Order: sequence, then C-alpha cells, then structure tokens
Amino acid sequence: MNGKVWLVGAGPGDAELLTLKALRVIQACDVWLVDDLVGRDILEFARPGTRIVEVGKRGGCKSTPQDFILRLMARYARQGRQVARLKGGDPFIFGRGGEEWAWLAERGIEVEAVGGITAAFAAGTDLGLPLTHRGVARGVALVTAHTMDGSRPDWQGLAAANLTVVCYMGMSNVDVLADELMAAGFAPELPVAVVHRAGCADQRHIVSSLHTLAADVASSGLASPAVIVLGEVVRHACVVNTPATAARWQVA
Ligand code: SAH
Repeated sequence: MNGKVWLVGAGPGDAELLTLKALRVIQACDVWLVDDLVGRDILEFARPGTRIVEVGKRGGCKSTPQDFILRLMARYARQGRQVARLKGGDPFIFGRGGEEWAWLAERGIEVEAVGGITAAFAAGTDLGLPLTHRGVARGVALVTAHTMDGSRPDWQGLAAANLTVVCYMGMSNVDVLADELMAAGFAPELPVAVVHRAGCADQRHIVSSLHTLAADVASSGLASPAVIVLGEVVRHACVVNTPATAARWQVA
C-alpha cells in the first residue's frame, strides 16, 4: 500500500477550531509531524499508537530544518504510512504548504491538503471585527513583514487600495513596520488591532493607531504569535476589552 501525506491546517491553536475533516484525517494517520503553533490539546485526539513527531521549536532543538521535515515525510510515506503534517492555521497561508506539496509530488508521493482557519480570520472573529465591512473595506490583504530575502509588500500600493491589511510575523520589528507604513502613505491615525493568540482561550489584544502602535505594543507586552490588523474596519470591532486602550479609544 502506498503512503500519503496530508497537509492539515490545525487552525489558530484551539482544538475546537479544527475542522471535522481535519479531525477525521489526522485520526486516520499513523504519523503526525506537528508544528509549533498547533494547539497542544489537539494532540489528545491522536489514536493510541500514533507516532507524534514535534518538528517545531518547542519540539527540542531551535527549529527543525525544513529539509529534515521534508525527508521525514517522504520516508514515512514510502514506508506506506499515512502522514499528517499538522500546521497552525491554514497550510497555504504563510505555512510553506505549497513548497512541501511540490517537493513531495516531484518525488511521486501522493499529497492532499485540508484547510484550516487562518490567524487573520480567527482574529477578526474574536474581536467581532468585520475584515471586509461593506462600504469600509473592499477586501482584505494577508501580508507578511518578514521575508527571507528582506523584500517588502508594495506598501504604497496597499495604502491606496482601500483594503484591510493583516500582517503576519510583524511583531519583532513593529516600530520599523509602523514607520514604513506611514512613509508609504498609511495615515498615522489609521486604527490598528494587534491580536495575540487569536482563537485561543488566552487571546489578548490591543487597539491602537499606526503612530502609537510601537509604544502601545511595548507597553502591552504583546508578542508573537500575533497578527496586526490595519484598516478603518478596526473601528467597527465589537469586542475591545483592553482597559488601557478603552479609555482612549472610542469605537465609532
Ligand atoms: N499558517 C498560519 C500562519 C503561519 S506564520 C496561519 O494560517 O495562521 C506564523 C505567524 O502566524 C505568526 O507569526 C503570527 O503572525 C501568525 N499566527 C499564527 N497563529 C496565530 C494566532 N493564534 N494568533 C495570532 N497570530 C497567529
């Protein structure tokens, strides 16, 4: 029997946000390769005898090299195993799912993907924040501030596009990010929400504006994993529960 690799989105970190399909698929797999951001309570759904390999930073060493993970998936699949590659959020949103699929397919290994709720959408839901609020935003752009080659999204284009922008992996240099955005034409008063561990029981968030973002992030102590939601839609957030910002912030 041929093995197969399933690229499974585990959602933002809470087992309840796993889809029924994801649950069915992972319970049918013999081997799980589990990323950092996957909720630990999800591991309790493994059938007895499942081999669980933690390939994220918490798994042991600093970070398991991507090469090693790829070869591990291939090895198990060639042994005829059903392999679940569990990733936080959705496997195709900043999750390397595309690269992994291509690499495996080139080697003749069967692959299938199961989608998950990506962090941006979990953040919107948590805050009652309509990312594409009618008449306010024409759409939503998911961007990353952190790339291997140091390149940036077209911030000027985005500033003019009337889209909600959700930034992943932006917390380590939030001051630089805010400066870049303002230099590109984003208004200093643009409302911004930062949502840490969206979709999880220990979610925390702040609402700020672009020019106060760096200071507010620093004083809140919020860190990765968090998404930064930029746009007028943030004014329409229904749940803003940070006392420190509530006094200053008036939801329109
Ligand atoms: N595939 C994932 C994203 C992986 S990139 C997804 O679809 O959500 C890792 C980045 O995702 C983090 O740096 C952070 O910006 C974001 N992220 C992941 N889980 C998150 C969560 N529960 N809350 C907020 N941001 C999260």
